[in-house]
Amino acid sequence: MFDKILIANRGEIALRVIRACREMGIASVAVHSTADANAMHVRMADEAVCIGPNSSAESYLSFPAIIAACEVTGAQAIHPGYGFLSENQNFVQIVEDHGITFIGPSAAHISQMGDKITAKETAEKLGIPVVPGSAGGVPTVEDAKKVANEMGYPVIIKATAGGGGRGMKVAKSDTDIEVAFRTARSEAKAAFGNDEVYIEKYLQKPRHIEVQVFGDGQGNGVHLGERDCSLQRRHQKVFEEAPGPCITEEERARIGGICANAIAKMGYRGAGTIEFLYEDGEFYFIEMNTRLQVEHPVTESIFGVDLVREQIRVAAGMPLSFTQDDLKINGHSIEVRINAERLPNFAPCPGTITQYHAPGGLGVRMDSALYQGYTIPPYYDSLIGKLIVHGRDRTEALARLKRALSELIIDGVDTTLPLFHALLAEKDVQTGNYDIHWLEKWLAANGA
Ligand code: ADP
Repeated sequence: MFDKILIANRGEIALRVIRACREMGIASVAVHSTADANAMHVRMADEAVCIGPNSSAESYLSFPAIIAACEVTGAQAIHPGYGFLSENQNFVQIVEDHGITFIGPSAAHISQMGDKITAKETAEKLGIPVVPGSAGGVPTVEDAKKVANEMGYPVIIKATAGGGGRGMKVAKSDTDIEVAFRTARSEAKAAFGNDEVYIEKYLQKPRHIEVQVFGDGQGNGVHLGERDCSLQRRHQKVFEEAPGPCITEEERARIGGICANAIAKMGYRGAGTIEFLYEDGEFYFIEMNTRLQVEHPVTESIFGVDLVREQIRVAAGMPLSFTQDDLKINGHSIEVRINAERLPNFAPCPGTITQYHAPGGLGVRMDSALYQGYTIPPYYDSLIGKLIVHGRDRTEALARLKRALSELIIDGVDTTLPLFHALLAEKDVQTGNYDIHWLEKWLAANGA
């Protein structure tokens, strides 16, 4: 087992990894930009190294700065958290070339799931159901029309190199597709430097269901059920829960089994998430994230396992500490993402926290790097905390979330908390009756 791990990240996820290290008796090294000198992860880690100026490109994304910090502190492994370098295969390769362990999958596995066409092809080969669509890239608008007419409208045009919801356009007819095709291509070119696009059947009212998987890199794979993350704004998740309110035990066993087998066949090492759109009882693969997800705590809550500890163990060459049969769902868990943003437009709202009080009590977990007097810098993501609740069932979890939200105080900056107070009053949220478009429609109807 490692003696010392460097965490190439900031904010709540850096604290999450430091906590796992501490429970395992492993020393932790924080890295930070100059803007983050007073951040909680710097205070909480056993050691901290400043790796550069405010801009992420020169600090949290700088390969040489992070590798040098490992060498200076003697850290044997790097945990990337999520975002930043967590899915950068070049970084993984360079880390490994320096004799440092990357806590995550191999560069080859990251690359297989990197661009969307390759990911879809890989998924199909592994027996994972995918959204019907073009076989690979679609070069011209004539080809696009041909594919769309064979498949039937509506269709969605997506960037091969896509991410963060960019480069996606829906077309409902041959007239629409001319503009949609050109816009998707130019957006893709601008955002990713690659204008290749492909076409998929556009599902009209799907839910976003993702399966948590884990592999030990030695041919064993398990699944830890699903999360429903359908409540999204601009393709960004805001409210996540496990288990999925509409997924039956049989469906879970079926799709979970397919995913666990795929992971085993790949020889995949570490945590991963296989994302699906779910409509009328069918699952359609959209992508795989080869890292820990923001919303992993809801899975931890219902299974009672520490996913970061497990990541560290398998990276050190140890076997998984549980088998599929050990994994039993207990109750229901919900997470809400709290952003420093001003409603109704969700404009980023950095600033100084004048008062902070975290909720507590049975079944309440607050993952946040906030403290009173902390100044949120304007340079990074606006996520400032995650409130996670656990109850014996969905009704209890919702009541607990409402109670915990009423205890939480964050003063000094605007946050997305009022959104959750309002959502909990909605019947559809109370009954779990929503698809991926529900929140956008609700925001439009409620003045956002
Ligand atoms: P990104 O990597 O840019 O986030 P994804 O492929 O994960 O792109 O898709 C993001 C979101 O876009 C999905 O959660 C869903 O809301 C929507 N979407 C993607 N593909 C389809 C599709 N075939 N039909 C309907 N909606 C889709």
